[in-house]
Amino acid sequence: MKFKISLRTNWGLNYRRDGFVKQNIFLIGDAAGFADPLTAEGISNSIYSGILAAEAIVSSEMNLRTAANNYNQFLNSKLLPKLSTGAQLAQLFYEQKKLRNLILKRYGQRAAEIMTDIFMGERSYPKDYKKSIKKRFKKAVLS
Ligand SMILES: Cc1cc2nc3c(=O)[nH]c(=O)nc-3n(C[C@H](O)[C@H](O)[C@H](O)COP(=O)(O)OP(=O)(O)OC[C@H]3O[C@@H](n4cnc5c(N)ncnc54)[C@H](O)[C@@H]3O)c2cc1C
Repeated sequence: MKFKISLRTNWGLNYRRDGFVKQNIFLIGDAAGFADPLTAEGISNSIYSGILAAEAIVSSEMNLRTAANNYNQFLNSKLLPKLSTGAQLAQLFYEQKKLRNLILKRYGQRAAEIMTDIFMGERSYPKDYKKSIKKRFKKAVLS
């Protein structure tokens, strides 16, 4: 029997697209697919999404529909944008080998420091990462 393994989907790391509330169950952490697609770091987002779910329930006065709406709203504003950026960066990082190698060769030390800060929760992915990568790529190629 042959198995085909595809690495084209960020190692399977991405948040689920079929909703985060199932009846009266609020999905958090791995159950929701909240591990970071670039680093595969999942512990802090598991804790964070648990906190968001708790806050959504507490602020709903125990109304399920309100709690579900609150949770989706919190996720949309506080967690999903970071995961989407992570997914885009993972695609660049894992699928664009030349670009990755060039950037790491030139900015490896800085990249490792930035990733450490992200792991420690001290910073998030830059919003303008496309502009920044383009600039650094051009500089790396031209110099
Ligand atoms: C090999 C490996 C290395 C990793 N390294 C890191 C790392 O260095 N840093 C990092 O941040 N992340 C790491 N991760 C990811 C991280 O472990 C997960 O993202 C994180 O543990 C998810 O937390 P969670 O609470 O959502 O799920 P889990 O930690 O999986 O907890 C779910 C719990 O629910 C229990 N359970 C399941 N079904 C039921 C049931 N029906 N009834 C009762 N209980 C049930 C399970 O036994 C489990 O204890 C790693 C993952 C793997 C597999």
